Amino acid sequence: MHEHVFVLSPEIHNNFPEVWGDEANREADAVARLTELKSRGVDSIVDLTVIGLGRYIPRIARIAAQTDINIVVATGVYTYNDVPMYFHFSGPGTPLGEPMVEMFVGDIEQGIAGTDVKAAILKCATDEPGVTPGVERVLRAVAQAHRQTGVPISTHTHAATRRGLEQQQIFTQEGVDLSRVVIGHSGDTTDLDYLEELVGNGSYIGMDRFGVDVFLSFEERVDTVARMCERGHADRMVLSHDAACLMDWLPEDLVPVMMPNWHYLHIHNDVIPALKERGVTDEQLTTMLVDNPRKIFENQGAY
Ligand SMILES: [Zn+2]
Repeated sequence: MHEHVFVLSPEIHNNFPEVWGDEANREADAVARLTELKSRGVDSIVDLTVIGLGRYIPRIARIAAQTDINIVVATGVYTYNDVPMYFHFSGPGTPLGEPMVEMFVGDIEQGIAGTDVKAAILKCATDEPGVTPGVERVLRAVAQAHRQTGVPISTHTHAATRRGLEQQQIFTQEGVDLSRVVIGHSGDTTDLDYLEELVGNGSYIGMDRFGVDVFLSFEERVDTVARMCERGHADRMVLSHDAACLMDWLPEDLVPVMMPNWHYLHIHNDVIPALKERGVTDEQLTTMLVDNPRKIFENQGAY
């Protein structure tokens, strides 16, 4: 429910092409990784790469055509602070109005950038700086596009500062049904009170950074999911890695050293066996990995 094929900085690549390197090699690497994931029983991934993360759909479409895995793509804007300069002079209350809502709705209803690939989920972010004016603008635009189209919302949060609750507040003000929202990166904390508050407000929570062990250890991530299952919340959790074939924000050779488990196969190789050892049942695993994602996407319709 929260992966990436690539997280990239296209303007850097345009001017420093050595960062990206050979296009054919990059695409072949992605095809190989996704094909391996499919061979482990994963039929679909959700690629939450939006504006700000280097979304480029023609490349994703080429890769998807070479694997049997389904890649569900997203629309939205990813920022922790300001909106991108493209949006600086527009927005609610300006003569130009808010262009984001129409852009998101077009991606969902018409297709992205002249392709027939439609976004099936909306994405926004709140990090440590909190609900800055730029972040609030994106959250509200995402909420409005959600109500116009009915596709679900998935978020990035900074769990240590309980940012998910602020997102829920803004979504509620915009009339969003919180059961149609996944509060992402919730697995970065062991704070069960916070997690139960998010779930109590009706949202799904993303235990979605397995492998990002620099934020929280493998053992703590597994333990938190197991304890939430014990408390009866398997029906509100989804599992993921937030991994990518390349994320150019970090030195490429350093990532496998810093975070050796941060790849698409970690859940199947390590997390599922560890959860089972902690008493999580096969039924609960199916709920988190199959049934919940299906319910999130089945719950359609504008309102
Ligand atoms: Zn992500």
